[in-house]
Amino acid sequence: MEIIVGKTAGFCYGVKRAVEGAKEELENSNNNLYCLGELVHNKEVINYLSEKGLNFIDDINEATGETIIRAHGVEKRVYEIAKSKNIKLKDFTCPNVLKIHEIAEQYAKKGFYIFLTGAKDHPEIIGTISYCGSYLSLITKEDDTLKALRQFEKSKKKKLLLISQTTFSLEKFYIIKEIVQNETLKDVELVIKNTICMATELRQKETDEISKKVDYMIIIGGKNSSNTKKLFDIAQKNCSNSICIETKGDLNLDEVKNFDKIGIMAGASTPDESIKGVLEYLKEQEVVL
Ligand code: SF4
Repeated sequence: MEIIVGKTAGFCYGVKRAVEGAKEELENSNNNLYCLGELVHNKEVINYLSEKGLNFIDDINEATGETIIRAHGVEKRVYEIAKSKNIKLKDFTCPNVLKIHEIAEQYAKKGFYIFLTGAKDHPEIIGTISYCGSYLSLITKEDDTLKALRQFEKSKKKKLLLISQTTFSLEKFYIIKEIVQNETLKDVELVIKNTICMATELRQKETDEISKKVDYMIIIGGKNSSNTKKLFDIAQKNCSNSICIETKGDLNLDEVKNFDKIGIMAGASTPDESIKGVLEYLKEQEVVL
């Protein structure tokens, strides 16, 4: 049996920075350190940090001490509330996400209507929306584009900006971009910025390449991880025998044994230990010869 592990599988730069930063903060925290939302979409990492004393909260109003802001970023109002309550923030918002906030705010101030592609209710999208002003349409899939264009026309605005969540599907973004370009009237000032991050782009491309070569594809990542879900969607298109697992315990060895060529990829919030864990488990079970 042959096994191909993606070179880009696992933690991206932004997640690594947040996890390492949180560990460092924990060492000097006297158990009064908070994290707003899950630091990363990974059960194992969250359990580890909870055991070490990190307090996970859903609302900044619950914090009574220094609070970590995760890589996805937060709404503008969180900074205002923290300031009013004298809560110190340790901000690990990924620079790529901060850049999108900056672009959104800047263009909203210039009077642009904003099209934002991404997943509804995802923390990064909730944060970014707070910088977009009131002229905004969220596009979650290709089919939403025409509806968004109608909303734009109704607004009577003549400036339009298209941006994206960092982990959105590159393929979908290009389709949406084409629809917007084709359907926008000539007198509209259209600005398109592909804000999908490089880490996402590379992982999606590698998943696409590997899943075309193998007959069984394993994607490792959290169930609520948006970028992991995208990798799984890509893998499934090329390889119908694709599965998405959180840990080695989710593997069905009887099923894996039926295949000769296995591919492994992992989302940007999947630690190396989880990937190694799956590989070692396959070896222990003599699935990988
Ligand atoms: Fe930053 Fe990209 Fe990682 Fe998100 S996926 S944390 S934007 S590097």
